[in-house]
Amino acid sequence: MHPPRHLNLVGGEWVDGPRQANTNPARPDEIVSEYAQADPDTVWAAIGAARAAAPGWARQPVGERIALLDRIGQAILARIDDLAVLLAREEGKLLGEARGEVTRAGQTFRYYAHQLLQPAGEVYLSTRDDVHAEVRRRPLGVVGIITPWNYPLAIPAWKVAPALAYGNTVVLKPAELVTASAGELARIIVDAGAPAGVFNLVMGPGRTVGEELLTAPGVDGISFTGSTTTGAHVARRCIDHGNKRFQLEMGGKNPLIVLDDADLDVAVRCALDGSFFSTGQRCTASSRLVVQAGIHDRFVAALAEAADALRVGDPLDPHSQLGPVVSPEQLAQNLEYVRIGLDEGATAVAGGTHRPGDGQFMRPTLLAAARNDMRVAREEIFGPVSCVIRVDDLDEAIEVANDTAYGLSAGIVTASLSSAERFKRDARAGILTVNLPTAGTELHLPFGGTGASNHGPREQGGYARDFYTVPVTCYTGW
Ligand code: ADP
Repeated sequence: MHPPRHLNLVGGEWVDGPRQANTNPARPDEIVSEYAQADPDTVWAAIGAARAAAPGWARQPVGERIALLDRIGQAILARIDDLAVLLAREEGKLLGEARGEVTRAGQTFRYYAHQLLQPAGEVYLSTRDDVHAEVRRRPLGVVGIITPWNYPLAIPAWKVAPALAYGNTVVLKPAELVTASAGELARIIVDAGAPAGVFNLVMGPGRTVGEELLTAPGVDGISFTGSTTTGAHVARRCIDHGNKRFQLEMGGKNPLIVLDDADLDVAVRCALDGSFFSTGQRCTASSRLVVQAGIHDRFVAALAEAADALRVGDPLDPHSQLGPVVSPEQLAQNLEYVRIGLDEGATAVAGGTHRPGDGQFMRPTLLAAARNDMRVAREEIFGPVSCVIRVDDLDEAIEVANDTAYGLSAGIVTASLSSAERFKRDARAGILTVNLPTAGTELHLPFGGTGASNHGPREQGGYARDFYTVPVTCYTGW
């Protein structure tokens, strides 16, 4: 059977191009889909279509925007089963996680439909007589959206939904590895009745297709999620090419502190989830476990045992607890980091190896006896690899946790209210968790980090409005 094919979407038309295939990371011989790669002309045409559609979309009665977003959300929710299977085959996500992601994507569209019923500006008292002062919000305009492969539906959804809701038009450039998910989203948006040009899709490599979006005139802003290196490049390009507004969500090297007074079961559960679930391929994953001396040995032994017990296997098998690594390149990079960690003096107390057989499978890997100055503790690995750093007390734990270029999420496991409060006051990250994994966020709350993890306004929740709208201050004399 011929694999499904996904085309670019430009001004309501499906546009072909040279075909590229994507394979299933659990079964590398299986082609999941093919996509048509966009060339520069296609990208420029998509930007032109978005530009042409922008004034009309911004002036649509808000009821129509609400209705469209609601229909998109409902259509996604009506396809949880088949889209989850696609996510599992394309990205390697466990079926249960994939169902959760599809649900989240659908709910995100419905959430932003309802956000439009929130106040759209503010009224101030003027210091002058007979003057009325208000702040209104206008759409930013044409937004280029560049997304990574680890959440093929949820991340496009949490950018596209607020962009459209607040009256912008969109050109989406998804990661090359997950174009089928993006293609299905595009089909759903078209079938839900989006006017031509309001949503456009261009697929292909970042360095060509993404680059066109960054440098082309006619794009007002770029919302990007990906690595910190690429994010820095996106920022420079946006400044140099038309001073585009940009929002960057980038890497993390997130610490989970475990104090002596922690409930051991809770600590192991949080670390297991944060370090290894989703194959460690989450920017909020806990990749540094900062553990107080008194609980250290018991915690490491229990976590290593739990990690070894995880069933690594095909995401479509309901018994699997850990899916494959997304690509051969990523698997090679993960294994290289394990080698670097061992060379630096850490010890692998669980995993450390490729699982033999077909597919890009890796055993969950715990590196004990790590120090915070090792490369495995400083660089984002983006795989099922976590390291343990021993500390003496809370002060040292917070110091180690904060000693990173990143700052996306950080967690603590403790029974002490005062330690938890100290952590919430002093830990330097955009998302803090107490007695919970560092990964796992909710769509109505702001998402984002500090330092090398973030640049620009927060995503998700009502905070998303700050990126997708421009405040305009109006003074009216009467
Ligand atoms: P990852 O390590 O998750 O692949 P990247 O930052 O490389 O992270 O990729 C995230 C997204 O950025 C992808 O859609 C990718 O194609 C895109 N991208 C990569 N390089 C560039 C670039 N030079 N310009 C624009 N987009 C890019």
